[in-house]
Amino acid sequence: MPETSPLDSALTRLDEAATHLNVDADVIEKLKYPRETTKVRLMIRMDDGSRKSFLAWRCRYDDTRGPTKGGIRFHPDATADEVEMLAFWMTFKCAVMNLPYGGGKGAVQVDPRQLSKAELERLSRAYIQAFSRIIGPDRDIPAPDVYTNSMIMGWMADEYSQIVGEGSPAVITGKPLALGGSVGRGDATARGGYYLVCHLAQELGLSGSMKIAVQGFGNAGQHIASMFAADGHTIVAVSDSGGAVYAANGLDLKALMAAKAEGHSVIYTAGHSGHQAIAANELVGVDCDVLVPAALENMIHKTNAETVKARIVLELANGPVTPEADAILASRNVVVLPDILANAGGVTVSYFEWVQNKQGYYWELDEVHTRLRTIMEREGRAVWQHSVDHGVTPRTAAYIHALSRLAEAIEAHGTQS
Ligand code: GLU
Repeated sequence: MPETSPLDSALTRLDEAATHLNVDADVIEKLKYPRETTKVRLMIRMDDGSRKSFLAWRCRYDDTRGPTKGGIRFHPDATADEVEMLAFWMTFKCAVMNLPYGGGKGAVQVDPRQLSKAELERLSRAYIQAFSRIIGPDRDIPAPDVYTNSMIMGWMADEYSQIVGEGSPAVITGKPLALGGSVGRGDATARGGYYLVCHLAQELGLSGSMKIAVQGFGNAGQHIASMFAADGHTIVAVSDSGGAVYAANGLDLKALMAAKAEGHSVIYTAGHSGHQAIAANELVGVDCDVLVPAALENMIHKTNAETVKARIVLELANGPVTPEADAILASRNVVVLPDILANAGGVTVSYFEWVQNKQGYYWELDEVHTRLRTIMEREGRAVWQHSVDHGVTPRTAAYIHALSRLAEAIEAHGTQS
């Protein structure tokens, strides 16, 4: 039996949403395939004088609602299929949030932890040299994703500006503040998810002190843990690629952050203040109210979905729950707040950054937070309402919400587009 591609499996969610809406077949045909995916081989000089090549992609999935938008991932397992699936998700994410963007994504097949800082800079610049005719402030706007960060975005923005011969900060978001970044972008993914949970707490049956487990203790994972802890909730378990730690009475977040800052795994804190080492794959099944997958795709799958004890899953990663696991969780009444809504705070503040770059006028942190909260609450409420009206999961509801906007835009473009 031929294996289904990651994109095929993502498309099942589009098909399902389409059964609840009266959309034209043309709309589905347009959204089923990426508009363009470009593959290149980047050659860079390593510190030892040798040359090394890396596969890289940029996918512009759909630009009906505006320039394509989405991050660049540096990961050893990156593939073209994965990039296309992630770009499909960006298309729907931007539509859920009503941002004036289509969806895109890029990747380099590399383990950045194996590169020196100078090699990483050469690789980042090589990416922009290769894709300078594809990206652009009104065409395709990259941002950080897994294993890329503001420093890398800074090098990339600088390279692009050198190529076009003028400062062009709006070509890329997630930049350092000194190069036109926005305040509030660093923790925006987590903050959006946090605002969403707070806003829907009553509907989700959450009250009083909650127990939280966070899978993936990177940027989004660390920030969401801090936000919930600051409200008095208990972080009972966290994991990263090195392992996991658990403490029924709450982990010491300061110690965890300090370990991460020094380049250690969370497992380094085992034994400290009641931290108990557990296997990374046990985290999904720990006793908690809210499980936050904040790492990679397919972490909750058909074999571990049965073990989930949380009532709520907040998807800060892209695609952490497989379609099979979705069905299992739904049958067990576990509510999944879906990635294209739950982690959309990141791209929303990216949009704010782009607006500020275009205006050359920079906002205060309060303004970023207030605007993010307004959009999260408005679109979160709309998705929740669709799920009640159609009797579907929040994920299908989010796809219905996005698809109706995409269909309207595709139809408005007319039949010759
Ligand atoms: N990589 C993030 C995401 O998956 C942010 C994308 C952006 O800011 O454009 O949503």
